[in-house]
Amino acid sequence: MIPAQFDYARANTLDEALNLLAQNEDARVLAGGHSLIPAMKLRLMQPPLLVDIARIKDLSYIREENGQIRIGAMTTHYQIESSDLLKKICPLLPACAAHIGDMQVRNKGTIGGSLAHSDPAADWPAAILALNAEMVAVSKNGERTIKADDFFVDLLTTALEPAEILREVRINKNGTNQSYAKMPHPASGFAVVGVAANLTMNGSNKCAQASIGITGVSSKAYRATAVEGALHGATLDDASIAAAAAHAADGTDINGDLFASADYRRHLAQVYARRAIAAACGRV
Ligand SMILES: Cc1cc2nc3c(=O)[nH]c(=O)nc-3n(C[C@H](O)[C@H](O)[C@H](O)COP(=O)(O)OP(=O)(O)OC[C@H]3O[C@@H](n4cnc5c(N)ncnc54)[C@H](O)[C@@H]3O)c2cc1C
Repeated sequence: MIPAQFDYARANTLDEALNLLAQNEDARVLAGGHSLIPAMKLRLMQPPLLVDIARIKDLSYIREENGQIRIGAMTTHYQIESSDLLKKICPLLPACAAHIGDMQVRNKGTIGGSLAHSDPAADWPAAILALNAEMVAVSKNGERTIKADDFFVDLLTTALEPAEILREVRINKNGTNQSYAKMPHPASGFAVVGVAANLTMNGSNKCAQASIGITGVSSKAYRATAVEGALHGATLDDASIAAAAAHAADGTDINGDLFASADYRRHLAQVYARRAIAAACGRV
C-alpha cells in the first residue's frame, strides 16, 4: 500500500500546470487525490510526476453565464452539494453530489477529478450525461469543447489527451424536472447502479424530452437511449414509466461481480431508472 516513487510539483497557475504536463509526457494532474492516490497505493497507476492543481484559484467556481451553468473543474463535491444557485436552477447536481462518499470525500474530491478519472461506478458521469454537459479541455495548444456523450470512452478512459486539463463543465439551463437515484455499494459507497433523469415536461404531464444517464452497470456510464425514446411524447404514469425503465440496460455489456451479478444489475438499473424518472416528474 505504498506508492512507487514519484516527483511532485505544485502549479500556482493554469499555464504553469500546462507547461509541466507538456514537458513531462507521463505526468498526472493531482486534484483532490481521492481516486489518484488510492490507485497509486495499489500500484494501478505509477506516474513519475504529479502536477498539483489544487491551489490554482480560478479553477473553483459555480456561476451562471449566457444561459449556461459553468463549474470550474476544481469545484468540490461539497461546494456543488451546498450551492443555493444550483439547488434552484439545476437540482440534479446537488442531489448527485450528496450521494458521493462521505463528508471527507465530498470536501476534497472535485467534479473535474471524478470526470477525468471515469470510474465506472462514479456518480457524476450519470448526471453529466443526463444534462448533456460540455467539458472544456485546455492544453498548450489551446482549448476545445467535448460533449458529454463523447467524453467517457471506456473504463478509466476519457477523451482527454495526456497533456490536457479539464478546466470547466458547462451545462445549458433546461428546467428542474431532474432526479438522481442510486443503489450504493454497502462497503465502498460507490454506485452499484446510479440513474440520473432530466426531463422536459409540458403542462399536461407529457414528456417532451428525456435524457437518462446510467452509471455502475457497465465499463463506463452511458445514455439510456431506449428509455429516452420510450418516454418521448408519452404521458407519464406508473405504467408508462415502468415500461420505459424496463429498457434501462438494453444493448449494454453489463458488469457482474461478487456483489452483483449481471442479471441483478440489469434488474437494479430498471428499478432505479423507474425511481429516478418518477421523482423527476414529481410522482413521488
Ligand atoms: C472512501 C471513498 C469513497 C468514495 N465514494 C465515492 C462515491 O460514492 N461516488 C463517487 O462518484 N466517487 C466516490 N469516490 C471518489 C471521489 O469522488 C473522488 O474525489 C473522485 O473520483 C476524484 O476526484 P479528485 O479530485 O479526488 O481527483 P484525483 O484523485 O486527484 O484525480 C483523479 C484522476 O483524474 C485526473 N484529473 C484530476 N483532475 C483533473 C483535471 N482537472 N483535468 C485532467 N485530469 C484530471 C488525475 O490525474 C487522476 O488521473 C470515493 C473516494 C473515496 C476515497
